[in-house]
Amino acid sequence: MNLKEKLCSECFTDQGLKLLAERIGIENPENCINCSNSNGIKLNIEQIETLAYRFFVVGSIFKPDYGASPIIQFNEHKKTNIKLSKSLQKDIKLFEKELGVGFFHYGPRLWMLGEIEPLKDLQDKKTRKSIFKRIIKEFPTVLLKENELFYRIRINPENPGAENEYDSSPYPGKGRLDSENHQVLYGSQDLEVCIHECRVTVEDEIYVATLTPKKTLKLLDLTELIDEECTEFESLDLSIQMLFLASKHSYEISKELSLYVKDKGFDGIIYPSFFSLVRSGKIPFPTVYGISTRRIPQYKEFEKTCTIWNLALFGSPIKDKTIGVKNINKLVLNRIIYDYQFGPAEIN
Ligand SMILES: [Zn+2]
Repeated sequence: MNLKEKLCSECFTDQGLKLLAERIGIENPENCINCSNSNGIKLNIEQIETLAYRFFVVGSIFKPDYGASPIIQFNEHKKTNIKLSKSLQKDIKLFEKELGVGFFHYGPRLWMLGEIEPLKDLQDKKTRKSIFKRIIKEFPTVLLKENELFYRIRINPENPGAENEYDSSPYPGKGRLDSENHQVLYGSQDLEVCIHECRVTVEDEIYVATLTPKKTLKLLDLTELIDEECTEFESLDLSIQMLFLASKHSYEISKELSLYVKDKGFDGIIYPSFFSLVRSGKIPFPTVYGISTRRIPQYKEFEKTCTIWNLALFGSPIKDKTIGVKNINKLVLNRIIYDYQFGPAEIN
């Protein structure tokens, strides 16, 4: 067999690790050097390292209120000091031997867990406004022009063919950016994001409207990677990312921001989708030598493509004829795919 293939999926005892190894490795009918099985999926050194990273690092991501960080890391300088199940203790020895590494608890830099000044100021009602002012000043204004298309989904509408069904909800208050007396029409240019954001199930009757502006709309673009001369701990860019990737506990901040932006004369906001996190399948706030990749020029374009954007338009733009309904379709979900991977279960 190829000397470069050192292990196979059958070498591992942990079922999650075995299944993940099958996805990463390559087929090769010869016997495994390590366990002599012929039916396992073989792994070379590079693939063994990918498996370790995906399983132990990505698989141990922890999400506090804001931010996210893996709990486990590995490198060639440290000895293994994490407590795992018996089967994983056995499996981990294979990685130690082949990669010459140890697995340990990762002490994240605190900004990864939301210890960022502007983000903390946003959580404090007294200091919030000063950050809102900066957001308007530092993020770019973009124009959504006539004839550009985006989508809006409705689940079980009463009258699917009626255009007003696709306007903003007449009962605002439940979403990230709408509040009582502040209606918001949510949409996206990415249909898959719309489907996710609506949390549809296969039983739902789903309809999708293709919408287009009837006049140029002025939007605040919060997905742009802004240039900043400061550390991660002072970054407005990271604060906004974390605000929009946080769940419901953060809504009181985004709702107030939304009202503020409207009062400043904008027609709406472009913001990062919560599902950017899930769909791109990577560590939420990756770093190189402890520096956020969002702040490294060579990574910027890549980081930007990882952000999937959503659109929020203020008021009732269909009723007010600033948005036109170009088309309405029924949307049939053939199946819902869950993308998943595995991680370790630690023992306390
Ligand atoms: Zn094997």
